[in-house]
Amino acid sequence: MTPNREDYLKLILELGGDEQQINNKQIVAGLDVSPASVSEMLSKLVKEDLVIHTPYQGVQLTEKGLRFASALIRKHRLWEVFLVEKLHYSFNDVHEEAEVLEHVTSDTLANRLDAFLEYPEYCPHGGKIPQFHEDLHEARRKTLVDYPVGTKVRIARVIDEKDLLDYLVALNLSIHEEYEIAEMAPYEGPVTLKKDDKTILLGYKAASTIFVETV
Ligand SMILES: [Zn+2]
Repeated sequence: MTPNREDYLKLILELGGDEQQINNKQIVAGLDVSPASVSEMLSKLVKEDLVIHTPYQGVQLTEKGLRFASALIRKHRLWEVFLVEKLHYSFNDVHEEAEVLEHVTSDTLANRLDAFLEYPEYCPHGGKIPQFHEDLHEARRKTLVDYPVGTKVRIARVIDEKDLLDYLVALNLSIHEEYEIAEMAPYEGPVTLKKDDKTILLGYKAASTIFVETV
């Protein structure tokens, strides 16, 4: 599936584009697309006044872009909670369903779903669910690659991207688990996580989309 403009806006917000500049490399990794398609889409988003682009630095959401992305993420994450809690989907299988549902969900439906689910705070991937008309500002902004070797961390949030979620499930890594960052290879090499006798070797790209809290 080729990512559309909504997917870009949501990813930019998930990566922290409400407050800081997100570089093209992070978008390439998060959406698994070519650098050329990222540049092309970003210039469209600039024209629509949804992002501000600073050459060689990155993009940041405008107020309009933030409002738009927040509303979509709210619908997306509410559906994810519904699918996991009520229909017993696994956390790597909800993304695509939610992706479709978010676009056909009116504000009224989203608000009723929110009430039905008893106002959940987080989605199954640890992302914050904004209130109706509230702009999303994630509290968890640091990823595995932002901490030095030896730091003890709890996995707090992962980016909603199907391949990434499948990869995490294959590695047997889940939200809320605690690990020590045991090794980091130089030049953006793999990151090694350790917990008791469990060792996980993560690619740098994936590690840079996994948000953690120190413990
Ligand atoms: Zn999610």
